[in-house]
Amino acid sequence: MTSQNCLQADVVINGAGMVGGALAVLLAQAGLNVVVLEAQDQSPDMLISELPSQLDAGYQPRVSALTLASQIVLERVGAWQAMQAWRVTPYVGMQVWDGMGSGKISFNAAELHEPYLGHIVENSVTVAAIYQAMQSYDEITLLTGVQMTALSAPDRQGGRVVSLSNQEQCYALVLIGADGAESRTRQLAGIPATAWDYGHHALVTTITTEKPHEWQCWQRFTEDGPLAFLPLAGGVEGHQVSVVWSTSPEHAQQLMSLSDEAFCQALTQASDTCLGQVMTTDPRHAINLRQRHAHHYVERGVALAGDAAHTIHPLAGQGVNLGFLDVAALAEVLIDASEQQLPLGSLEVLRRYQRLRRSDNLRMSATMELFRRLFGDRPAPIRLLRSSGMNFVNRLSPVKNHLAMMAMGVKGDLPKFAQRGV
Ligand SMILES: Cc1cc2nc3c(=O)[nH]c(=O)nc-3n(C[C@H](O)[C@H](O)[C@H](O)COP(=O)(O)OP(=O)(O)OC[C@H]3O[C@@H](n4cnc5c(N)ncnc54)[C@H](O)[C@@H]3O)c2cc1C
Repeated sequence: MTSQNCLQADVVINGAGMVGGALAVLLAQAGLNVVVLEAQDQSPDMLISELPSQLDAGYQPRVSALTLASQIVLERVGAWQAMQAWRVTPYVGMQVWDGMGSGKISFNAAELHEPYLGHIVENSVTVAAIYQAMQSYDEITLLTGVQMTALSAPDRQGGRVVSLSNQEQCYALVLIGADGAESRTRQLAGIPATAWDYGHHALVTTITTEKPHEWQCWQRFTEDGPLAFLPLAGGVEGHQVSVVWSTSPEHAQQLMSLSDEAFCQALTQASDTCLGQVMTTDPRHAINLRQRHAHHYVERGVALAGDAAHTIHPLAGQGVNLGFLDVAALAEVLIDASEQQLPLGSLEVLRRYQRLRRSDNLRMSATMELFRRLFGDRPAPIRLLRSSGMNFVNRLSPVKNHLAMMAMGVKGDLPKFAQRGV
């Protein structure tokens, strides 16, 4: 199903965020021809060249805690080195405590014989480094300011014709939806998703604290939701902290309306003064949190990855880490299929990807939901049990270390591109 004025691609990726961009590079490295569509009209050159001055001027409000598995994927993509040169913050410990009880768990890299547990990275740094990596491959055509307007039914091999907002068309052996939570690809492919509100908004900003963060993440479960302090490098070295405060929409609105001084006081109190007084704050941003899970990740000629397939609560900082594991699994499946000359868009090929990722992602979604419910405002006996459980796990080093290694992405059934030393 091809015509002369139709672009041809092995793979069309809709969405050049962290997930779509990283996937494009891994596929291009294997010689596949990739067209990437990005709705935002952003020049990649400007995005890359303006980043250093933006970083000098301050911190970006959106950050992600990246696991070792994500780091390995980003190293394969060729983005990690640039990210390190721009700004990444390793963290060596994590302190989690129950603000309504006496429960506490602490994780420590040294106990796991690792140099760190992970890195806090501004999302703009990760995106710019991936864009820079994309520029090294002639196999990648990046079209910015372009959206999908229609999607044909699959041909016999699963191939699809994608109609674009610039009036062009593109034929793809397979279309990947990496266009985030409100995925247009998911809608056009008719893939249903279950979604519900967590009843939480995440308030994000950057602060300076009186005491040094000691390269630790700090998370307190409050009656309204989890409050996380994530360490940042640079600035007043050791005192810059990224905040993710998940709370009810009403409380978030109230916090948004406070003066900077009153907000710093509210944060100092809500954090149990774990880092002393909160001294300064950057502007605040509130984000509505919803959980979504696509009923299936694949259709003939279409697969979903990252937030297009699943969005989860940020309380354990796992959203894009799951996305990078999707990238690693999907790249492996598509490259294997291409080497075996199998049709990339066939259900036989794409279902292999779904088998590799869907149950793991569902398990993580369910765990986040359990945590959110367990740490809501619960009756006293549940609070007691919760605190005892945390303290029990904290004393049980093998269980605690196993949990930490799973969360870091160094244990478990990882796709090849996310494994150390493969
Ligand atoms: C407050 C908060 C804190 C978080 N903290 C963490 C954390 O610590 N660790 C972690 O792992 N995760 C975290 N996450 C989750 C993480 O931000 C997401 O999982 C991640 O951004 C998803 O990446 P993505 O590339 O799949 O989607 P997106 O980042 O949404 O990118 C999608 C891309 O597609 C483009 N696009 C959208 N629609 C279209 C269209 N119709 N056509 C073409 N292009 C389109 C967009 O412009 C964008 O470039 C957090 C989330 C929140 C809200």
